[in-house]
Amino acid sequence: MAAHVPTMLAMIIVSSLMMAASMAVVGWGRRRDGLGRWAAALLVNAIGHGLIMLRGVVPDVLSVVLGNVLLSCVFVGMIAAIHQFQGQPARWPLLVAPPVLVTGFVIAFIDNFPARVSFVGLVIGLQAVWALATALQRRDAAVGRGQWLLVAGLGLEAAVLSGRALLALSSTAVASGILQASALQTLTFLATFSVVLISSMGFVFMARDRADENNRIMAAIDPLTGVANRRSLISALDRDVSRAVRTREPIALMMVDIDHFKRVNDRYGHPVGDQVLCHVVNVLRGRVRAQDLVGRYGGEEFMVLLPDTTLLGAEQLARELCRAVAESRCRVGATEGASDSRPESGGGTSIAVTVSIGVFGGRLESGDSWDMLIAAADRALYQAKENGRNRVEVATGLRRPSAQRAALDNPETHPVSRY
Ligand code: GH3
Ligand code: MG
Ligand code: MG
Repeated sequence: MAAHVPTMLAMIIVSSLMMAASMAVVGWGRRRDGLGRWAAALLVNAIGHGLIMLRGVVPDVLSVVLGNVLLSCVFVGMIAAIHQFQGQPARWPLLVAPPVLVTGFVIAFIDNFPARVSFVGLVIGLQAVWALATALQRRDAAVGRGQWLLVAGLGLEAAVLSGRALLALSSTAVASGILQASALQTLTFLATFSVVLISSMGFVFMARDRADENNRIMAAIDPLTGVANRRSLISALDRDVSRAVRTREPIALMMVDIDHFKRVNDRYGHPVGDQVLCHVVNVLRGRVRAQDLVGRYGGEEFMVLLPDTTLLGAEQLARELCRAVAESRCRVGATEGASDSRPESGGGTSIAVTVSIGVFGGRLESGDSWDMLIAAADRALYQAKENGRNRVEVATGLRRPSAQRAALDNPETHPVSRY
């Protein structure tokens, strides 16, 4: 099957222009995604194929030399776009080496079509492999499916161009002119058409998937401290409570509140207060296990969720955390009015901070819910504040609706919780 070459070239030109325009619109103002560079590569692709289509109409130096060089430049733009997407600097001197090689070779062999086809095909095929390797260099779960589309398109282009180059070296299957129809020409241009569509779509999907992932992370993380926010804490707690009810494994929860935090803000100002919040989070995160979750429940109150943990284990950890925070010092830059601060060797200010912790821990029953655990830990936290702060108090049980009623009837027989 040999399709009409100018028609296929027109398809490539129109699809490249349409895709470039769409990507320029989608990528407007999002320089980090590389969409602008990819759109520029597609524009170069359209111009390059336009010059090839004008073979015999415009001087050979434009159609043959510039046309082929531009086709090689397409992959320079695509590789640079993938680098930008990955947050890596493009190595321009290396990237422009293939187009420079193509320029020299095509000028030297301007009258030898098979030699040109094999050399240019080989160089561009290798550039496609280079783009493929660059795309695969960083596996990013967030951009999985888009990445595979990109890889599929580039792989197809690499295989067809290399195959065409090798055939050109050895057989007469290659046409004697670029506009002459042949099965191989048809395959080559269809592959180019496909790479424009498949890889460009893949690249757009990668950018979209990453934006979705970033939005998902931002919706789950407290922007100041970088730990889970209240929404994701509750969703994790809800999941862990359901699991603990099902498996009958113990579960524990801590509510951690900074003592007299308002005074820190009043004395040192809000920005320093923010640094103290981050400092406390760092102390907490540095001491919990990988499976535990530290999050910011609100203001200067944090939650530590401890799956598969007994009350005793949670209590021990809480005491360790309480002590660790009290022994730590939050170092901040020199602050005016810090009369009670200790100057450190670096000339900054060192702020003492303590926390009170309420702990709940135990096995759950069917019907127990996440809010009952928070209420129990909160009651213990309130008691820790009442008892003088910088200390740990423990809630031994949950206030279950039925147990609560029974406790009211006969408190002696139902010591449901200490607080
Ligand atoms: P207590 O020992 O009883 O917990 O006293 P406290 O001063 O820590 O508690 P209180 O609830 O009176 O004050 C909490 C303060 O936390 C008030 C609020 O301005 C401050 N705060 C809440 N969120 C932030 C924040 O994101 N940054 C800063 N710097 N301060 C915050
Ligand atoms: Mg407080
Ligand atoms: Mg508080």
